[in-house]
Amino acid sequence: MPELPEVETICRGLTQLCVGAKVLDVHIYRAGFIRGSRKNIDLLQNLTIARVHRHGKQFAIESACGRALLFHMGMSGSLTVHPFESTRAKHVHVYWTLGRGNKKFELHHKDPRRFGYVRPFLSIQKIRDDIWSTLGPDALCVDADDLLQRFKNKKRSIKASLLDQANIAGVGNIYADETLFQSGIHPLRNAGSISLPELEKMIKLLRVILNRSIQGGGSSIQDHQDACGRAGTFQNCHQVYGRGGESCEICGAILKQTLCAQRTTVFCSTCQPRKK
Ligand SMILES: [Zn+2]
Repeated sequence: MPELPEVETICRGLTQLCVGAKVLDVHIYRAGFIRGSRKNIDLLQNLTIARVHRHGKQFAIESACGRALLFHMGMSGSLTVHPFESTRAKHVHVYWTLGRGNKKFELHHKDPRRFGYVRPFLSIQKIRDDIWSTLGPDALCVDADDLLQRFKNKKRSIKASLLDQANIAGVGNIYADETLFQSGIHPLRNAGSISLPELEKMIKLLRVILNRSIQGGGSSIQDHQDACGRAGTFQNCHQVYGRGGESCEICGAILKQTLCAQRTTVFCSTCQPRKK
């Protein structure tokens, strides 16, 4: 599933390529992919794209009149810009024809595994109130005191707690494993046992990792591509994710692999000793 850096990469591309463009037409091939209203006006027809907003792994396109579309990218969704009248790839369930001046182009939403969706809202505020308020703070803005309160007395592991979007929005399996490794925190340690200084260090490292990944265009594990269709490069920088059984880059020990919150979890038992 695209995590914060992958989604941010998509948002930056859309901002660059689509803001200021007018939606000329909407084409729906799989109606079930649209949640709520499928009226053309609700899908931004005849409206101008004004801004792109992101919270955690979700993002929304806001029109100049205020109407907004919320996007959930599912397991391997993409939203890419194509020339006008391009061939539609398999699994493109909806696309928009956009125009700027005399130039027309298209925005294709592809979702091979069909876990994603598009949902119209009357305003970005409505998305914040109804959807994003149920999520924790965005991973790039979260602070340690807030997390300390959220994790207080929690018996759940730190790995499961980081994956829980109600605690912190935007972190998935890749960036949870990478952050815990760099922080020297065992993934199965109780979240409630982690001290404020440890959380401060962890959040600092999380931000560095997320920002480095954004700079690299995200991690392309499951077909992630930016709005221009380019793959990311940060998968080449993973120190633990996907490396179970290989040797630790820091100490040389064999990286262990276990299951946590139903997700494969890779860690180094030397660099991340179990404390509690
Ligand atoms: Zn190690």
